[in-house]
Amino acid sequence: AKADGRNTCRFFESAMSEDTLSNILLETRLRRAIPNGELRVHYQTQHRLADGALTGYEALVRWQHPDDGFLMPAAFIPLAEETGLIVELGFWVIDAVLAQQAAWRAEGRPLVPVAVNICAAQLRRADFLPRVRGALARHGVEGRYLELEVTESMLIDEPEAVMTLLSALREDGVTVAIDDFGTGYSNMAYLKRLPIDTLKIDQSFVRDLPVSRENQAIVRAIIQLADALQMTTLAEGVENEETRRWLVDAGCDLGQGYGFARPVPAEALEHDYA
Ligand code: C2E
Ligand code: CA
Ligand code: CA
Ligand code: CA
Repeated sequence: AKADGRNTCRFFESAMSEDTLSNILLETRLRRAIPNGELRVHYQTQHRLADGALTGYEALVRWQHPDDGFLMPAAFIPLAEETGLIVELGFWVIDAVLAQQAAWRAEGRPLVPVAVNICAAQLRRADFLPRVRGALARHGVEGRYLELEVTESMLIDEPEAVMTLLSALREDGVTVAIDDFGTGYSNMAYLKRLPIDTLKIDQSFVRDLPVSRENQAIVRAIIQLADALQMTTLAEGVENEETRRWLVDAGCDLGQGYGFARPVPAEALEHDYA
């Protein structure tokens, strides 16, 4: 199992024996984090690679811990997954993002889609669809301003249930991206059956692009696949101009990474829609 904080969701697979005292303490605190208002959403911009135009944001959760300070997802998402707290955390993020969009709209700012990371345990919940729809309606935000990021394993494990769910959300305009694409499975049969809009090329393939022949081959293959299936490609971890240019030449559509901007609180976004 991965232990790097990605949303791989080992909810039902975890061994309780792995729990240490500090994990139990952390769990107790994480349980209170939502009601105590300690979670924050940071936003990282997404751009059209060719001209840098803003196309959206990804929402990334952080925890302002009363004792341990500012915690990154790697410090608490794995535990949230093991304990099932990820379900409420995930819904909190969706709600916070839609509330933020409603606030932007009230300020007269044009909206762009915000992508939210979804975990398998959340998708399995029977109330997922009504809760997402309820949140959209409550905040008066159209579905097209919400994108859900799911991982390959989530699409393979329960294709029928996921298919029904994602198709229903798509009718509301909600889009679906596959996160960390290329790192999960070699069986890609699910791609032609599921309603996917965007392939997010994992940053491990993007990092050394200008020099790595292997990564160049993988990224070209993903772009070709996406073009054939009429999906958008978004490269993660675009850190420099050389990489951006390589990706433009290869036909990649969108990018995200420190080369454009780091994730920041909503107040720190510059809203450069030019
Ligand atoms: P991810 O979804 O793959 O998110 C991208 C991660 O890469 C983020 O780390 C982001 O800050 C980082 N990143 C962005 N651009 C660059 C770059 O140019 N270079 C490098 N080296 N890194 C870059 P972060 O915020 O620490 O999040 C880590 C993971 O935690 C995420 O990976 C995601 O799987 C998970 N996560 C974050 N927020 C949530 C959430 O609300 N729900 C769930 N279920 N998982 C979340
Ligand atoms: Ca993501
Ligand atoms: Ca990713
Ligand atoms: Ca394309």
